[in-house]
This record gives sequence, structure tokens and C-alpha cells, in this order.
Amino acid sequence: MLELRKITGAYGPVKAVDEVSLSVAAGEILGLMGRNGAGKTTLLKTIMGLVPKRTGSLLLEGEELIGLPAHAIPRRGIAYVPQGRRLFSELTVAENLRMGLLVKDAPQAEAERVLDLFPILRERLSQAAGTLSGGEQQMVAVARALCAQPKVLLLDEPSEGLIPAVTHRILDTVAALRERGVAILLVEQQVKSALRICDRIALIENGTIQHEAPARDLAADPVPLERYIGVH
Ligand code: ATP
Repeated sequence: MLELRKITGAYGPVKAVDEVSLSVAAGEILGLMGRNGAGKTTLLKTIMGLVPKRTGSLLLEGEELIGLPAHAIPRRGIAYVPQGRRLFSELTVAENLRMGLLVKDAPQAEAERVLDLFPILRERLSQAAGTLSGGEQQMVAVARALCAQPKVLLLDEPSEGLIPAVTHRILDTVAALRERGVAILLVEQQVKSALRICDRIALIENGTIQHEAPARDLAADPVPLERYIGVH
């Protein structure tokens, strides 16, 4: 579904992502893990066209996206849930979801389909997003992204700052998106969570992919996790 070939993303002279090649299939969850500053966020931003300089090839269903302006990427079918959620906190949950629908002029029925994944949000539709709990805000961020009917979903640390039970629920919902055929690239710092829901995991250090393996292989032999993350 999404294929990165030698993707480089740079802030001026600094190459924070250096010749990364990866692919994510429809219905697959690829985990991206690495230490702080390894380049995880920059890789997602590079895919979205949000870094000043990017080179390489980025294919969505075989179509080249490098060269397109950043605003064109979501419409092509890649949704991005940034670290820290970035909701419109003064707007209601319903209005935040409408922003997602607008990306593709998707019908209201799409929001209903998305709300089936996060039923608790139905009770919060008229509440300002900024007044929700952290977990609910993360659900809104994911739901808003899904309203744009993405083929590919990029998630940057959705579990950040959440208690384990809430993380569990959100990641289970993300895992359920496999059935809808969404290709998912997930930055996740918690090894246990990543091993539980990812199909494959790529380990990044200094902007380059150092190791890539099925999650079950890393669970059986955590040496690469220890090496590139420092814990297991
Ligand atoms: P974290 O887990 O802390 O979020 P990360 O793996 O997501 O880390 P990035 O935020 O992608 O790492 O950072 C990768 C490198 O790029 C770091 O060396 C960082 O200092 C640098 N960097 C990030 N954003 C910018 C920026 N806007 N301008 C210049 N350098 C940046």
C-alpha cells in the first residue's frame, strides 16, 4: 500500500531521516521504534511533506507522492495523528470530526461508522474537545483522522501520557482497523504494547533503519530491542 524508497528528510543541513526504505501493506501494522531523537517523528513528517527538504520515493498504491505539496497528501489517503493530538480544543468533538470529513468531502455517514469504533465519543459530541480526558482526546484525534477515509494511517505515540488500560483500549481499536484494510505505521515507545499489536517492527537509530523483523521474532529474541531501545 505504502512504500518508502530511500526517503531522506532534512531540516536544513541536518538529515534527521536518512535513506529509509520501508513498506506497509493493507491491513498491516508496522511499528516504528527507537530512542528519543532517533527520527521517528521526522519520518512521519517526511511522509506528510512537513519537513523542509525531502528526497527519495514515496509510493501510495504505486503512485509517487514526492513532489506533491503537503496539503495534497491527506486527500490522497494518508492520515496523520501527530504526537500531542493537536485537536481544535475550543471546538466540539462533532466539529473536530467534521474537519476530518472535509479532507475528503466524506459524508456524515462516515463519521457514524468511525463513532462505532469509539462509542463513548457519541456521548461527548457537543463537548469542547479540550475538556475531554487524555484518552478521549486521543480517541477524537484517531477518529478525526479516520473520517478522512485514509488508506494509510500514521500514528505518533498515541499512548503517550495515558494509563495502560486506556492505551490498551485505543490500541485494540487501532488493531481492529486491519479488518478495514488500513495500512498503519505506528510509533510506539512501549515495547509490550508494540509487540502485542504490531505485525512487524522497524527499529530506527540516527535516522536510519537498523533492524526490521516480525513482532513475534522480536518477542522471542529481544536482543535487537535491547540494542536499539535499551529495554525489553
Ligand atoms: P522523540 O521520541 O523524542 O519524539 P523522535 O525519534 O521522534 O524522538 P525526531 O523528533 O524525529 O525524533 O528528531 C530526530 C532528530 O531531528 C533529532 O536530532 C532532533 O533534534 C532533530 N529535529 C527534530 N525536529 C527538528 C526541527 N524542527 N529542526 C531541526 N532539527 C530537528
